[in-house]
Amino acid sequence: MKIAIIKETKAFEKRVALSPEVCKQLIQAGFECAIEKEAGVSSFFEDTAYEAIGAKAEKNKSSLLSGADIVLKVNPLTVEEVGHMKKGAVAISFMYAATNPELIEACTKQGISAFSVDAIPRISRAQKMDALSSQANLGGYKSVIIGAYHLGKIFPLLMTAAGTIKPAKVVIMGAGVAGLQAIATAKRLGAVVEVSDIRPETKEQVQSLGGKFIEVKGDDSVKIEGGYVKGISEDFLKKQQEVIARHISEADLVITTALIPGKKAPMLVPEEVVKSMKLGSVIVDMAVEQGGNCACSEYGKTIVKHGVTIVGEPNIPSLLPLNASELYAKNIATFLLHLATKDGFKWEMDEEITKGSLIVHNGKAVHPSIVK
Ligand code: NAD
Repeated sequence: MKIAIIKETKAFEKRVALSPEVCKQLIQAGFECAIEKEAGVSSFFEDTAYEAIGAKAEKNKSSLLSGADIVLKVNPLTVEEVGHMKKGAVAISFMYAATNPELIEACTKQGISAFSVDAIPRISRAQKMDALSSQANLGGYKSVIIGAYHLGKIFPLLMTAAGTIKPAKVVIMGAGVAGLQAIATAKRLGAVVEVSDIRPETKEQVQSLGGKFIEVKGDDSVKIEGGYVKGISEDFLKKQQEVIARHISEADLVITTALIPGKKAPMLVPEEVVKSMKLGSVIVDMAVEQGGNCACSEYGKTIVKHGVTIVGEPNIPSLLPLNASELYAKNIATFLLHLATKDGFKWEMDEEITKGSLIVHNGKAVHPSIVK
């Protein structure tokens, strides 16, 4: 089967779906690989690196797409890209299917199949395929580095002849994959770290990384299912804002990572709280693509409001394109080798990983999140 790796078209995206190293593994497994010319350059992989391991670098994107049995990408394919694919071919990428109806329609019209890596079940067996985690992990690290860059002070306690510098105080909202890596990174840099999440099991995880847990007692409106927050009431959110306001107003750096899958991100830092923060403090809002955890953050911008620098950088993992592409490539190759051999897809429709991630099958929308 022929795999095509196409160049990402989303603005500021630097990642690529397959690294040369992982491409080589797929070629050794019997697949044929072709890459769109310069698709890997922003991740520091040159065409010659792919060619050296036996993958072809092709200039003509439409013929690359129409000749492929499998198309790999990081971001969702565009409707136009799907329009070049041959009937029965398979696309694999992040899709966010529930919020991308035009893409689903294009896939059904074209008679292709599509798997979404963001829908791979988060079960132990699928950990090596978990692109959400590999990317969030890097994002959590980079968010602290971005915060440190904007902060006019250092993280660690420093005792010098000229005086003692107190350690920076970092508050992290949300202790999922990104939040936990942010805690570990901020601790390694010497900060005092306080963390809040509303999933009770996160308390122990935060403490094991050396963070202090900010307790917010949940109420009946907090719905948690399968390890995810599924919903919270406005009343609870108000209560939570009050509890965390004091911690945020004393912080040097606030990193917000709180998400509710399929919904707008919860508002945790209203403008009054930003106003109460110290001059020169920094907020990095990692939830900005889902509407933001801070009322003042602006998508794609770094602004200063009420003396606070607020970073609304989307797609933080893409700022570490080398590692992000290497890990994504490993995730997606493991996923592909689970689903297919060089001779074709297995289509084990009752198998948990296949069932959880298959969005469109031979032109028919099949995923429960889109078939009502
Ligand atoms: P996420 O990105 O969906 O959300 C980030 C965090 O925000 C979560 O910890 C969530 O509890 C928190 N949050 C939501 N509303 C909040 C609020 N009002 N205040 C504070 N925090 C709030 O989460 P994620 O990192 O994708 O992890 C989701 C789940 O998946 C977790 O249970 C995690 O343990 C699990 N997981 C499992 C595996 C595996 O077993 N293979 C791998 C990775 C993650």
